[in-house]
Amino acid sequence: MSDMPPLMPTYARADLAFERGQGAYLFTADGRRYLDFGSGIAVTGLGHAHPHLVAALTAQAAKVWHVSNIYRIPEQERLARRLVDASFADTVFFGNSGAEAIECGIKMVRKYHDATGHPERYRIITFEGAFHGRTLATISAGKQPKHVAGFDPLVDGFDQVPFNDGNALRAAIGRETAAILVEPVQGESGIRSADPRFLQELRRTADEFGLLLFYDEVQTGMGRTGKLFAHEWSGAKPDVMAVAKALGGGVPVGACLATAAAAQGMTAGTHGSTFGGNPLAMAAANAVLDVMLADGFLESVQKHARLLRTRLDDLARRHPKVIAEVRGQGLLLGLRLVPPANEMIEKLRGAGLLTIPAGDNVVRILPPLIVGEAEIDEAIRILDGVCAELGA
Ligand SMILES: *Cc1c(COP(=O)(O)O)cnc(C)c1O
Repeated sequence: MSDMPPLMPTYARADLAFERGQGAYLFTADGRRYLDFGSGIAVTGLGHAHPHLVAALTAQAAKVWHVSNIYRIPEQERLARRLVDASFADTVFFGNSGAEAIECGIKMVRKYHDATGHPERYRIITFEGAFHGRTLATISAGKQPKHVAGFDPLVDGFDQVPFNDGNALRAAIGRETAAILVEPVQGESGIRSADPRFLQELRRTADEFGLLLFYDEVQTGMGRTGKLFAHEWSGAKPDVMAVAKALGGGVPVGACLATAAAAQGMTAGTHGSTFGGNPLAMAAANAVLDVMLADGFLESVQKHARLLRTRLDDLARRHPKVIAEVRGQGLLLGLRLVPPANEMIEKLRGAGLLTIPAGDNVVRILPPLIVGEAEIDEAIRILDGVCAELGA
């Protein structure tokens, strides 16, 4: 017990710390520079120290940080209006993380069926490989063995079926089924994309059986795939959607978006969050939207995503003994490796390039959305060198 460090050791951390960031780069206190193609796991979508975000947050910090949701918060009303205008949704709840956004959605789904005369409908269908967060309800939804071990009893009400399998999904629907919860691209389990036709099928199935379609866009949302939300590529709209990660650009903000019908049970007193949507967090998220909704921003993300994908495909062709597959969408990319992914991630870090591990022996590549051609060239040079070393 005396070996227990003051910082609870729930993370296997690299022995590396950063002092500051600038754009796509992070710097250590002793001046070493790293190209950040992990973005704090898809959080710093606009890179580090973006001047517009720094200005917005600094200005808000001098005014007011927190007041509580027992008062009106104009910055929150403004952000909700902008998210509604930019999406399928009619209404938004703000929290502080992805798991909380999912939790709000889970509660909303149950409340919807209760409010519409079907309190027996509370079960949510999720998919193998899913990741929805680390709270008790969200690990119960994701059902990943390494996340649930030792935490029994889990929260009841989640049924899991294989990803991209419409028949298994239909077979799992029963009289207690309330909703389908799905990531348009599974991030943590290795950048596995839902087939666009699968999302369209989920929409039809949800309509046929009176279920709500609930997207987890915590990682895929906020421009990561080149659209504001990844499901836009499929045209299949949800009833409920969780976003977080890049929404605050690094300030903790999560949001649960919903149609008016789906949210009809969420009346005063049904849900809450002390910090959720406070003025400081809202200033950050409104500033993120200023940048992401500006003309040409998402087109630029798509252009650089195509460039990076072309270079990675070329790299994979030249190093077949190292890279088995390039996958993903936009700037949410994965290299499925032949040698252990962690070996490559360590070597890349040693050479000044930061990436993120994912399931299925995948190296996740998540550059900031502001990435430029020169940074893509630099990353490919480093990857090329490490591939040559690993393939030798
Ligand atoms: C990161 C993530 C979450 C959990 O978000 P937290 O902010 O860590 O609670 C949920 N779903 C997906 C798809 C994620 O990538």
